[in-house]
Amino acid sequence: MISVKRGTWIFLFVLGVLTAITCQFQNTLTYLHVISHLAILTAAHFALAFPPEELLDGLGLTLYDLFSIIYDHRNYSYIDYAAKRVLFFNVFVASYPALISGYFVHGQLFTTAINTRRFPELFDHPWLWLLVFVISVIGLVTYYYKIRDYTQWPAFQYFMDHPETLDGVETVINDPETFRIRLSQRTHVYVTRNFFIYSSNWRFVAVRMIDVRLQVDNTRMPMIMNIQDEEERLRAMFIKVNFNVPYLAPFTMTLRQDYYHQLNEILEIPIFVPPHITVPMTIMEELKEDFVHRIRNNSRHTHRVKRSEKDPCFACGSEENIIKISKSCTGEEQRLLFHDIVLNPTPNCENCTCRPLWCCGCIAQIFITRQKIDNISRYEYHRGSAKCPTCRKTFCIRDVHFVDFDYIAEEEEAST
Ligand SMILES: [Zn+2]
Ligand SMILES: [Zn+2]
Ligand SMILES: [Zn+2]
Repeated sequence: MISVKRGTWIFLFVLGVLTAITCQFQNTLTYLHVISHLAILTAAHFALAFPPEELLDGLGLTLYDLFSIIYDHRNYSYIDYAAKRVLFFNVFVASYPALISGYFVHGQLFTTAINTRRFPELFDHPWLWLLVFVISVIGLVTYYYKIRDYTQWPAFQYFMDHPETLDGVETVINDPETFRIRLSQRTHVYVTRNFFIYSSNWRFVAVRMIDVRLQVDNTRMPMIMNIQDEEERLRAMFIKVNFNVPYLAPFTMTLRQDYYHQLNEILEIPIFVPPHITVPMTIMEELKEDFVHRIRNNSRHTHRVKRSEKDPCFACGSEENIIKISKSCTGEEQRLLFHDIVLNPTPNCENCTCRPLWCCGCIAQIFITRQKIDNISRYEYHRGSAKCPTCRKTFCIRDVHFVDFDYIAEEEEAST
């Protein structure tokens, strides 16, 4: 793959240089021309640095691809590579003024017709553009040399103060047990009990967990309210990452709901939620809650069992067994199974006579995951049906009952 990418980039470079040096401009451009050229250059420049998700990425045409061709990650430690990437991206974006002034210098240079101006009056200042170009290039080089030594960066200042982090980072990255989140194409977060690592094209920080404070960002909460009804993947939390170290600048990251909940399970100190904010549940949690609410209206099932033979939930083996599947629907209820656009009636319920009991969470999950849950049909999930995990017989939501235990004497024969 890398060789294909390399080929593509070399081709683009050769083509670019060839096109640039073989230009022969004869006519004066209109304002519309110039403005559209500038717009195209600007769009191309920033599309490379901030590629639309999955689009340019698939083609290997993002700035990250170019970076990974120039710098082979096998030759660098994780930290060096992350720093080089941030450096590369910042310098690239800073090259924008040079690109724009370069466009004007180039146009002037390759105009071959005598007494013809390449640019309309407002832009027609050859020496000014040349001056701007030279200053931009000098500025760019100066900027590069200024930030080049990344050991001076605040993130690396931290490594000086806490040298043990340096070894910790490599261990965390290479440990398959590490909890990883891919926030976007090239933005990764690695979290263990001891370390927090964030690496993107624009930022790299690796700190001990005790120096990080994560908090739901209340300043950006309203956006979450707006997208609450979108698909689950669009549900995101803004998490403010604060550091106990003054020279590390706080920043905000966007975390998908499910990652938010998983991350919270790892952290010793959970993500702080300001009091006036309610964290939206995931769709699964929401539906599970709804499921339990609905089955409370069903009749209760009396389960006769010896106290000594009372097992936990058959599925998870840890929660209390308080749910029984037993056919009690009439078959007259409006029930549907959602398959894409076509609505098919569910198969008829059958008599499940299995002994095992379940907990609320497991039976809700078993039922809900059998339904097609998308934006349109997720509120209809309760009309579907599922199969008993042990006997594969069909049951519907009306066949799910809470259990009242009727404990029988130890020597009696149990029956349900
Ligand atoms: Zn369970
Ligand atoms: Zn069964
Ligand atoms: Zn049923």
